[in-house]
Amino acid sequence: MFQTTVAGSLPKPSWLAEPDKLWPAWRLSGPDLAAGKLDATLLALKLQEDAGIDVVSDGEQSRQHFVHGFLEFVDGIDFANKVEMGIRNNRYKAMVPTVTGPLTLRGRVHGTEARFARAHTARKLKITMPGPMTIIDTVADKHYGDRVKMAFAFADLLNAEARALERDGVDVIQFDEPAFNVYTDEVAGWGIEALHRAVAGLQCTTAVHICYGYGIKANIDWKATLGGEWRQYETIFPALAGSRIDQVSVECRNSKVPVHLLALLEGKDIQIGVIDVATDEIETPEQVAETIEPVLEHVPAGRLILGTNCGMAPMRRDIAAAKLEALGRGAALARQRFV
Ligand code: ZN
Repeated sequence: MFQTTVAGSLPKPSWLAEPDKLWPAWRLSGPDLAAGKLDATLLALKLQEDAGIDVVSDGEQSRQHFVHGFLEFVDGIDFANKVEMGIRNNRYKAMVPTVTGPLTLRGRVHGTEARFARAHTARKLKITMPGPMTIIDTVADKHYGDRVKMAFAFADLLNAEARALERDGVDVIQFDEPAFNVYTDEVAGWGIEALHRAVAGLQCTTAVHICYGYGIKANIDWKATLGGEWRQYETIFPALAGSRIDQVSVECRNSKVPVHLLALLEGKDIQIGVIDVATDEIETPEQVAETIEPVLEHVPAGRLILGTNCGMAPMRRDIAAAKLEALGRGAALARQRFV
């Protein structure tokens, strides 16, 4: 009961990449970088295990950014000529690469770190990848001329990598779809179908993470415009409940999402974020339990997994480590109190 996991990313050590940044520059290169990524993966696993996290991730230590870490392995994308694009419905601008030809995978994307992580932990292992809708919201297109068609082309590539990750021994494959919370009307229309393409043929546990973004200023400013109740999930949860995805990862801690909306995810396992990644304040176990308690009125305890609201990539490393410990201690308290 009350298994724990992380949304995905953890901060990278400062010897590997610039600290406290969402798009950090690597501080190593060549074979040193390749070795450094795996050393950092080992540290990420150890931190999670010591904190009592049950379903651990590679901490996304091998990728610069959660979307572009995948795109770097795709042919048909021109990374040399990045263009400025408003993403997440113009919430913020990013320099993005351009799709210039048919999309194909150059080989394995996350195989190296997944197999390495698998060899070094006996816990359940989760690997995350960006979802098709979020990918097409983070690249420019000069080839397909149709963003939905391009999303399904990406979904086929995600599926090939996901099947390979399953063969590597990965237990949970999660697709990150923050774009679902932005283009809510398109989720039932084609977003879920694109996700189904990405998970086709998988036997392992599948998950989708839908959040209100990292704790960066653009997201905090956006949240301030969303009013007293955030009801984006209300539009998309019924479609997700009817999907073939096993788990849905959502944010709860310090969130203005009405907690009763979680009942709309009937039949799904729900990873609830009990750790806020937008503040450096470390949650107490009591606060973790307080976040869980109202959820129990709407979701059976056996369907709850405890996690973080979003990835922790841009956070200070010591704070992220303390928040991992808070998650583990909070879960222990919840087991005492609610089971
Ligand atoms: Zn997130």
